[in-house]
Amino acid sequence: MAKKLSPWESQLLNVKKTCDLMGLEPSVYEVVSHPKAILKVALPLKMDDGTVKTFEGVRIHHNDARGPTKGGIRYHPNIDMDTEMALAAWMTWKNAVVNLPYGGGKGGINVDPKALSKGELERLTRMYAVAIANFVGVDLDVPAPDVGTNAQVMAWFIDEYYKVTGRITPGVITAKPISLGGSLGRNAATGRGCYFAAVEASKSYGIPLKGAKVSLQGYGNVALHAAYNFANAGSKIVSASDSKGGVYNKDGMDPWKLKEHKDKTGSVLGFKGAETISSADPITVDCDILCPAALQNAITTENASDVKAKLIIEGANGPTVPEADKILAEKDIIVVPDICANAGGVTVSYFEWVQNRQGFYWTEEEVDQRLERVMLKAFHDLKEQSDKYKVSLRTGAYVLSIGRVAEAMRLLGRI
Ligand code: NAD
Repeated sequence: MAKKLSPWESQLLNVKKTCDLMGLEPSVYEVVSHPKAILKVALPLKMDDGTVKTFEGVRIHHNDARGPTKGGIRYHPNIDMDTEMALAAWMTWKNAVVNLPYGGGKGGINVDPKALSKGELERLTRMYAVAIANFVGVDLDVPAPDVGTNAQVMAWFIDEYYKVTGRITPGVITAKPISLGGSLGRNAATGRGCYFAAVEASKSYGIPLKGAKVSLQGYGNVALHAAYNFANAGSKIVSASDSKGGVYNKDGMDPWKLKEHKDKTGSVLGFKGAETISSADPITVDCDILCPAALQNAITTENASDVKAKLIIEGANGPTVPEADKILAEKDIIVVPDICANAGGVTVSYFEWVQNRQGFYWTEEEVDQRLERVMLKAFHDLKEQSDKYKVSLRTGAYVLSIGRVAEAMRLLGRI
């Protein structure tokens, strides 16, 4: 049996295949197969009960040829260096697909944030900010939230960063609360971007959105805003799920009422008029468009042959395992890959950074129009590459991004 690749190894394999397909000089792969810099820090936190517990923190710069590195801060009990390196590299590729002037980075702390008190979480975040202060910066590396962190964590982080540097530079971190320099439209941006990607794919492949049956795995930030946008375009939301289970109604469900129900009861389960299904069932229900927007590895070799959608918009990061991709391709299912489909979030983070640096803030309409332009252009650019090389949209996205990073490295004289 083939050895199961780690996230970093599987990322490298994709990159190597793409470099070979494009006939790039070997020095491109040589550079991008090593993260540029890694900072590991020990964070000895004084707990509420007076004991001291040490947590490990890390920040990674993968590649900065196209600009400052950018990527989230993850608080998770099972963070390992391999996954962090892969996540940092994916940010290099995602930022390049949507043509943002950024490289890729990532970081985090090996901690279960739910196991800490609010005070402990704040002290740990402040300690991390001090420990990595010289490794981040508006022109160096720009973090944002990721799994286990949120706008409040960003606020504690910049407060500490301001104290260390003696300068108020809100652009050092994005997805901040609006009152601290956050951008309008950031909260809805990833789901909205998924919708814009679907609009372009629907035009290219003749899959009308009006009346389309849409199924979503997850009903958190990304799925929710995607659902609102699809419903506004006349699509029917036939299925959604969360970690407790899922719901299905072939006639469609009102996504706003479903959100109200989830807020009240803690789950989509029990929504009026809908059948109960499992958390994983939205992947295989009868639908035209599938948006996996929960976790990685949702579409596998076990369920890929049962997928009925014509179009998949990858809201989550890494929802399709590579072997399942082959099965989807054999079934002629169009997959808009994560590094394009869910790039709306980092795109509006970039807008936030621009607004912070200008000290001039945009309306929600301006943010939205610019997001639409970026997503539309990214889709067309990657489709052009996929047509040119006769490969999937996913490989087309890698061709586009690796080509852009290689060009920057060549011009800088690094390769
Ligand atoms: P979230 O925490 O708001 O929502 C996640 C949803 O998934 C929740 O409804 C949760 O109940 C559900 N879920 C968890 N386990 C599940 C399971 N086993 N089966 C079905 N549902 C399950 O997170 P989010 O911000 O919406 O992120 C979702 C995905 O999108 C993640 O992969 C994330 O990395 C990716 N992503 C998010 C953003 C962003 O801006 N929020 C940007 C890019 C990518």
